[in-house]
Formats: sequence, structure tokens, C-alpha cells
Amino acid sequence: MKQNISAQFGLIGKALTHSFSPRYFNERFAAQHLNLHYQAFPIESIDLLPALLAGAPQLQGLNVTIPYKTAVIPYLQGISEEARNIGAVNCIRILEGKLYGYNTDVYGFTESLRPLLKKDHQQALILGNGGAAKAVKAGLRALSIPFRTVSRSGTADYTYDQLDAALIAGYPLLINTTPLGMFPDTASAPAIPYEAIGSRHLLYDLIYNPAETRFLQLGKARGAATKNGNEMLLLQAERSWDLWTGIVSEPIVRV
Ligand code: NAP
Repeated sequence: MKQNISAQFGLIGKALTHSFSPRYFNERFAAQHLNLHYQAFPIESIDLLPALLAGAPQLQGLNVTIPYKTAVIPYLQGISEEARNIGAVNCIRILEGKLYGYNTDVYGFTESLRPLLKKDHQQALILGNGGAAKAVKAGLRALSIPFRTVSRSGTADYTYDQLDAALIAGYPLLINTTPLGMFPDTASAPAIPYEAIGSRHLLYDLIYNPAETRFLQLGKARGAATKNGNEMLLLQAERSWDLWTGIVSEPIVRV
């Protein structure tokens, strides 16, 4: 039977078989009896985006995932100031044939962390220095929390072998932005001295599968508060919806 789809949304990226967004949005649309559809569009190269758009005139919004969050920027007619500053776009609104880019990971991270903050959480240590770390840094700046970064290479403030107990004790907010511990690699965790963690610490893991990573388990065992990436994931998706539908807007600048 031919579907009568009045508007379409989608996700561009490379390997999209296990993506959260198509199921999340299609269940949401069905529950609200909305005549909308969300589809994964795996593309081998970002050069294929114009042809994809030409073939899908009903598209009103896209999410963008690995490896195109930065590569998509030259294809946009406008970008939010925040996404431009970070250099990463994970949400695009398509309006009258023009593409406007946003970063909703920053919103998701900031708003999921905010309610957990206590007066102790005045210094943050970010483990990993990749794409997701960019959104975390912007979120911490918005929350006025100073931070330092840890990377395997020399591109951050610290390498893992510099993290001794005294240093970890000085960073009550520890944020894992590496994929270590993500399914199916659930036995892995960032190499930090967990014995230095105590009840003043808050451990935040961007990973949401499994719900409790080894990083969070090790922190919890030392009395720390913990938070996984599930709420961030839901909040960034809902923020995308609000931007696509114009419920919220963010200032746009030229690319
Ligand atoms: P990424 O760019 O591939 O990796 C992030 C960084 O992790 C890398 O740049 C690397 O930093 C470090 N890293 C990678 N493999 C490592 C290893 N074996 N040992 C130690 N460090 C390693 O990925 P991403 O896009 O930033 O995403 C990172 C994680 O965040 C993923 O698990 C993703 O699912 C999650 N995420 C969650 C949400 C959410 O809404 N909850 C949103 C975005 C991302 P260095 O090379 O500098 O060491």
C-alpha cells in the first residue's frame, strides 16, 4: 500500500544499522498519530548529500552522525553560533530548500548535567578529546565549570599516565567521552586511578549502552554519584524536534 507521508525526517551517517533515532522518532510519531516518517540515510561520502536532498523533497530535518558532523558544514546556508564555535553539526533544519545547522548534543549534555551539580563540582576532567568532547566543553563553558582534557596523544592537557590520585581528587566531575565500555566492549574503562574517587565525585558517562558502564560501576563502588548518557540522548533528540518544528530557535550566522 502506498504511504501518504506529508513530511519526512532522517539521519545521515555511515554505519546506521544500530542507530537510536529512527526507532525513537517513528515510535514518537506513531504514538501521537502524526503522519510523519523518519528514515536512516547511510551515505558513503558527504558529497552524496545534494543528490539525497534532491531525491527527497519532503525532508524537513536531518540528524547528522559520525563521520559527517564537521564535513557537513560547507553544505549549509546557515549555522547556529554554537555549532560554528564547536565545529560540529548534528541537526539540520531544512526550510524553503535551505539547510540550517545546529548542535543539540550541547543542549542534551548541559541540561542533563545541570540538575546534578553540587557546590563541590567546580572542576571537571574530560576523558577523551574527540567529537563528543567538543559538545561537552561547550556545555561546561555554558555552566561556568572550568575543565581540563585527557587524551592518549599530546593534544590535551594530560595524558593518562599523568593521572595520579592527587590529580583525580582535585577534579570532582569526571566525564567519559571515549567509547571505552560501550557495548560490546563492556569490560573496558578509561585508565584512571579509581581508588582516588570518593563520595564528592560525580562520574558522567556519555555512553548509554550499557546503562551502567564499568567506568560508572567503579565510581559507584567508591561512593560517587553517577549518570549515564541516556538522558543526554533523549534531550538532544527532542531538541532536534523543537528546532525542526520551530518550537525553539537559535541565532543563525553565515557558514
Ligand atoms: P570518537 O570521536 O570516536 O571518540 C572520542 C575520543 O575517545 C577519541 O577522540 C579518543 O580521544 C578517545 N578514544 C577512542 N578510543 C579510545 C581508546 N581505545 N582508549 C582511550 N581513548 C579512546 O567518538 P565520539 O563521537 O566523540 O563519541 C564518544 C562516545 O560518546 C561514544 O560512546 C558515543 O556513543 C557517545 N556519545 C553519546 C551521546 C549521547 O547523547 N549520550 C552523544 C554523542 C556521543 P584521544 O584520541 O584524544 O585519546
